[in-house]
Amino acid sequence: MIKRGSDTWCSAVANYVKRAHDFSCQVCGIRLKTPTGAYAEAAHIRGLGRPHNGPDIASNVLCLCPNHHKLFDFGMLTIADDLAITDRSTGQVIGRLREVPAHQVERRFLAYHREHHAQA
Ligand SMILES: [Zn+2]
Repeated sequence: MIKRGSDTWCSAVANYVKRAHDFSCQVCGIRLKTPTGAYAEAAHIRGLGRPHNGPDIASNVLCLCPNHHKLFDFGMLTIADDLAITDRSTGQVIGRLREVPAHQVERRFLAYHREHHAQA
């Protein structure tokens, strides 16, 4: 098995999404190169398991660089239905989420993420 783009959390869904974006971050576009290949992380929009019980499907996963993965998980980045990305530390829109035809994000998961972090 090739460990290209491997992550601590790994599934066929994660690999599909990372490949669809060629391991480029959907927020900033960066593509990290390592001695064993490109590296990106798969981030669930609505988390798996309790208490969120999000599904492990491609439309609930983002391909992100490690920095944006953490910021997204902490709720410091939120994504609107039009894919505008807001940095909650400044309230500024910093860009738009990159999509590719092979991987579309479901808006209901983005809404869940926004609502979950709105109280934080
Ligand atoms: Zn990034």
